[in-house]
Amino acid sequence: MKILVFGKDGQLGKALQHSIEAAVLALPVGSNQPSIQFVGRADCDLSDGVALEALLSRCKPQLIINASAYTAVDKAEDESDLAFAVNARAPGIMAHYAAQHGATFLHYSTDYVFDGAKAGCYVEEDVRNPLGAYGKSKAAGEEAIEAAFANSKQGQYAVFRTSWVYGEGGNFIRTILRLAKDRDALNVIHDQHGVPTSASWLAQFSFDFAVDPSFSIRAFPSGIYHAVPAGETTWYGLASFAVQVALDVGIALKVVPANIKPILAVEYPLPAPRPMNSRMATGKLQNTLVSRGDMSKSQQLHQPWTEGVRAYVTQLAKDGLI
Ligand code: NDP
Repeated sequence: MKILVFGKDGQLGKALQHSIEAAVLALPVGSNQPSIQFVGRADCDLSDGVALEALLSRCKPQLIINASAYTAVDKAEDESDLAFAVNARAPGIMAHYAAQHGATFLHYSTDYVFDGAKAGCYVEEDVRNPLGAYGKSKAAGEEAIEAAFANSKQGQYAVFRTSWVYGEGGNFIRTILRLAKDRDALNVIHDQHGVPTSASWLAQFSFDFAVDPSFSIRAFPSGIYHAVPAGETTWYGLASFAVQVALDVGIALKVVPANIKPILAVEYPLPAPRPMNSRMATGKLQNTLVSRGDMSKSQQLHQPWTEGVRAYVTQLAKDGLI
């Protein structure tokens, strides 16, 4: 099997490399080895559609995993053309290739496709209404994928919508822990709600969703799936929890949870508006897994977000990264 993974230097891309390399090592001796290419910006700039098409034609992948994205949410307000090229046109090209060649396409999207005005959890069918350029470009990416597969009888795709990703790289948790070492107090937004999602959890989950341990593709209904762990919090809740875990594992911080002050989003204006509610229901993914008899995988969606954050902060401490 030939696999092409885009975005190898990002949080999710690095986690996918770890998951896929571990799956290769677990193959029985004598098994057919998959051919896997991890692609970064230096190998193919995704704003160059011609280069992307040429790469796909040359590699002829049976599985394409797109972990790349233009993720600079605020900068996207001034670079919307670039955000659209990477987040909408490039996945559209990948999806078109997959639909034309009977390949499987895995892609990732975001809570930012919603306006955050809904009272409860978002479901997959809720209307997209992104607030800023990044969200609009990611929503256009989803639409481009749906359009590419709309009239195709071959190939399959899954778009995993997720939120508040943390992994190897810069993210909110690492920023908070860095600030907690240097400052005496922190102000953190308490009226935006979402679910922190571990990049390694999402990488493993999405790869296993589409590929079995012998590296055969699994069949699944094409579509968008919400993929986040269980529970919910606010940025303030996440910051307080991460700081407490760091203290618990013996990291010396100037800030303790009592010095973190909850503030309103309006008190911390940013160039791009954020959804106030990013909570997403995962029932569709759970039902899909249960209907194919994959009960243990469906259980992974019940893992509380706190477990992932606790493991992440503990590992950062062990690695001397706090
Ligand atoms: P990162 O920003 O960590 O990684 C994105 C990767 O895309 C980077 O390696 C970057 O390359 C690459 N990239 C950007 N522009 C180009 C380009 N023009 N050509 C080639 N490569 C490019 O993102 P995450 O891993 O956090 O996000 C993974 C997915 O999850 C994305 O689809 C994102 O939209 C989605 N998501 C992320 C959330 C988050 O909180 N981070 C929340 C919800 C969804 P380089 O390293 O060279 O810059």
